[in-house]
Amino acid sequence: MTVSLLWFRRDLRTCDHPALRAAVDAGTSVLPVFVLDPRLLAPDRPRSRRLVASVRALADSLDGRLVVRTGDPVEVIPGLAREVGAERVHVTRETTPFGRRRDAAVASALSTDGRRLITTGTPYAAEPGLVVTQSGEPYRVFTPFARAWRAHGSPPPVPPPRRVTWFDGDVGSVALPGGSAIGAHGDGAGELAARQKWIDFLADGRLGGYDRDRDRPDLDATSRMSIPLKYGEIHPRTLLADVASHPEGGTSGAATFVTELAWREFYADVLWHRPDSAWQDLRPELTDLAYDSAPESDRLVEAWREGRTGYPLVDAGMRQLLAEGWMHNRLRMVTASFLTKDLHVWWPIGARHFLDHLLDGDIASNNHGWQWVAGTGTDAAPYFRVFNPVRQARRFDPAGDYVRRWVPELAHVAGAAVHEPWLHGNGYVNGYPRRVVNHDDERREALARYELVRR
Ligand code: FAD
Repeated sequence: MTVSLLWFRRDLRTCDHPALRAAVDAGTSVLPVFVLDPRLLAPDRPRSRRLVASVRALADSLDGRLVVRTGDPVEVIPGLAREVGAERVHVTRETTPFGRRRDAAVASALSTDGRRLITTGTPYAAEPGLVVTQSGEPYRVFTPFARAWRAHGSPPPVPPPRRVTWFDGDVGSVALPGGSAIGAHGDGAGELAARQKWIDFLADGRLGGYDRDRDRPDLDATSRMSIPLKYGEIHPRTLLADVASHPEGGTSGAATFVTELAWREFYADVLWHRPDSAWQDLRPELTDLAYDSAPESDRLVEAWREGRTGYPLVDAGMRQLLAEGWMHNRLRMVTASFLTKDLHVWWPIGARHFLDHLLDGDIASNNHGWQWVAGTGTDAAPYFRVFNPVRQARRFDPAGDYVRRWVPELAHVAGAAVHEPWLHGNGYVNGYPRRVVNHDDERREALARYELVRR
């Protein structure tokens, strides 16, 4: 029997896996492989540790058959294919600029001795690039995209192959970085843990109440599926099918949840059509906007990164990011707005910091989420929206519980008073920092800068 490689990347699971299915259907034995690419791995970065934990869980679920190699996939994959005599290398199609470039180089290297890279499926319910307007143009705004995406639909989850003939030859594999190097960021990694987390979300009523509670960082109301989705431990097709067949599947909570998944699909689609928008303004209108930059802004950016801006909601979000590698969506918007509109810093500085710390750090959702807030991206109501960190706090953390959880210097301040320590005699007794800027002044400044480039 001949052998195919199955090269795992952002698809670290075995259920609902079209590329695995394609490898099995080809009638070959299958050698699963993961490449530790030093360009994507920094030992001190939480996301790298989480990735390794997920690969370890995959290796366990494959009874140790996963071959792990280190190096540049352009050399490693063709080398391994030659070593075992594999003519075909199966993958899930990559859609990011880096992934597309890498895969084109691997395909080209494989083809020099007659081997092929075969792509099946993507990490999305609808393949980026497929949902287009009637005239074949990409969508630039979310709402019509989401409508067309819903109408396009997604295929049902791919049933697992009945039997996989795994390659049983002797193939060298390196050990994954282990134990203490992974630490807390490996907790709950892998397909089984992802599935359990998703089942818990569906079972405890959060789906039906999702539209009501999803904006409340003080409640544990969202699914936290962004991390499993990032590593492909579960596929969005599975989530959509489970929502559709759920008793609460017809509720407005479920409809809102599906809309949020559509945002992930939308941003992947935008990036597919405009790979340059990963790190450059998507829309050129604000190219000449004046930003503050180093060294003047260094002190303020550092205060923002460390959660010491003196605005309790902003600081709570930034501290949650550093501690957990995750931040609630409302806080991502508030903290991104604070950096871009209150501190007048160009969005890629903040996007980089988020990517360095988020376990779900995803170039499409993160960088376009930042551009949405900064007003340079896909938002239809753009730059002049400036989030007021105190009003947001009163509205979405009404009793102040979220802030007190992350800002111990304010733990003694009861109720919503915690959002404005400057109004209370005891607000600063435990060393909480004073405000680094005045929001009302900086809002006016942001709008003035905007007016200058609008003319
Ligand atoms: P839920 O509320 O349970 O939503 C379900 C799923 O829908 C999420 O897991 C996610 O896949 C998707 N989703 C929800 N909201 C969005 C959104 N606004 N944009 C895209 N997808 C969405 N999401 C990431 O996955 N990775 C990122 O790096 C990332 N960076 C962001 C940066 C900024 C500045 C902003 C404003 C948003 C960012 N988001 C990012 C989107 C969103 O904040 C997270 O997906 C969400 O908070 C994850 O929590 P959850 O899984 O509990 O979400």
